[in-house]
Amino acid sequence: MPPFPEPLRTELRALLGAENVVEGGETLKMLSLDYYWYSPALRTQLDDKRADVVVRPGTVGDLRAVLAACFRAGVAVTPRGGGTGNYGQCVPIYGGAVVDCSRLDRIHSVADGVLRAEPGARLGPIETVARAAGWELRCYPSTWMKATLGGFFGGGAGGIGGVRWGGIASGDTVKSITILTCEAEPRTLRYEGPEAMVALRTFGTTGYMIEIEMRLAPKLDYDQLAFSTPDWNRLLDWTDAAARNGAWRKRVASQFQWPIPSNFKPLKKHLRDGEHVSFMLVDRTQTDEIAAAAEAAGLAVVYRRPLSDPPKPPFLSDFTYNHTTLWAMKSDPSITYVQAGFTADFRNQFDAWLRQFPDEVLLHLEWGAVDPARAVGPDAVPEAIGVGGIPLIRYRDDARFREILAAATALGIYIGSTHTYHLPEGTPETIAARHALKHAVDPRGLMNPGKLKSFPLNPFAAA
Ligand SMILES: Cc1cc2nc3c(=O)[nH]c(=O)nc-3n(C[C@H](O)[C@H](O)[C@H](O)COP(=O)(O)OP(=O)(O)OC[C@H]3O[C@@H](n4cnc5c(N)ncnc54)[C@H](O)[C@@H]3O)c2cc1C
Repeated sequence: MPPFPEPLRTELRALLGAENVVEGGETLKMLSLDYYWYSPALRTQLDDKRADVVVRPGTVGDLRAVLAACFRAGVAVTPRGGGTGNYGQCVPIYGGAVVDCSRLDRIHSVADGVLRAEPGARLGPIETVARAAGWELRCYPSTWMKATLGGFFGGGAGGIGGVRWGGIASGDTVKSITILTCEAEPRTLRYEGPEAMVALRTFGTTGYMIEIEMRLAPKLDYDQLAFSTPDWNRLLDWTDAAARNGAWRKRVASQFQWPIPSNFKPLKKHLRDGEHVSFMLVDRTQTDEIAAAAEAAGLAVVYRRPLSDPPKPPFLSDFTYNHTTLWAMKSDPSITYVQAGFTADFRNQFDAWLRQFPDEVLLHLEWGAVDPARAVGPDAVPEAIGVGGIPLIRYRDDARFREILAAATALGIYIGSTHTYHLPEGTPETIAARHALKHAVDPRGLMNPGKLKSFPLNPFAAA
């Protein structure tokens, strides 16, 4: 890796002001890393990775000048949003410049159900602005108060809202992505509709997103509910049926096997020792009906609070998705996680997996729309909803971890690649399209090098 060129440091300071160029200390460390430490494998690989500088451009014009300067100097450029990724997506493998987009946070407009904003706008404030105009985010990660729009498009998947709309890549949620290229004279390129999908979730390897258009949903008012019982299968039957009930409008359906709920310390007074729980966000006009149905099925409704508008804590979503893992790791540092997708045979998959690893696998389930067009309303079908989740694993060592994952795969459970910083590549067509984009927008391979496995991993290696 070449040393960071001193003239570039001087140029960046002159361009952005010294206060927007971080060159050392704890701040440099913090802005070089994300939540990669969820994974024991990534901890070993990424702990010592650092940027040479972190820069914070405040305008697209400044960003353009930063990209041009880094291109001329042959320095790696790694985009950064809120730094909440779990796979080291924004960790600079080869040093260079981390380009933080937090000052590029203008929310331009919410019109006709479409949000248009800069990449550094955070999802929480976006939801507030959208709601004031009668709309809401279709899906958002549980980190919505910290995570940026650019980071969600660059490295996120989905989350709350997924049970209705699927993930960020589902349907027509992505309207357009506008990027700056990493060239001597960075160009502005706009990708719309299906064309934009190739620039989605590429870990900042295919240009710097400067503007995003995302479709929203008409806003609803929600209540946050928790259901509890010591009987896992009773709860599973109910949550599964509720998630697939196309007449019930909801934003979350999650289920947690005891003792996972024991980690949710702020909810301690609501949750019961030894009981499994499900969390749901439901349309407020249907809360009474849904709560009564749960009680009739033998569940206790142990938590019932409105989700305020504008959104203010407490949020039950702070305990869902990869927040569940965070709460568990606080209590037991040996915990890690996997992203799992189950088939229609999920009950047998759970039983068989837990039978093999009773003390090591803990089930955390999330229901999501696999066919959002048929998730709610008169055309709804139960198969439009699938069961996935982020089961927790008590980690002993790598060999045992692999054994647990291999057993899951043998049972037909899909396991996502969450313990690598490489971008999942997909089909040959996806790989070819992504390479074409990469060549067009980043001819020197400087953008977040090392993440795109099939691309020269180290552009600085001697030929
Ligand atoms: C407690 C916890 C819970 C989580 N829950 C969820 C969840 O529910 N759903 C989910 O999908 N994820 C979840 N995550 C992961 C993460 O929070 C989300 O993916 C989030 O959207 C990342 O946003 P960010 O702004 O922090 O992005 P960052 O981590 O800063 O960046 C993510 C990627 O995007 C790239 N990027 C950032 N800005 C740009 C830009 N302007 N142009 C090009 N590329 C860019 C970066 O290079 C990086 O590769 C969770 C993580 C934690 C720690």
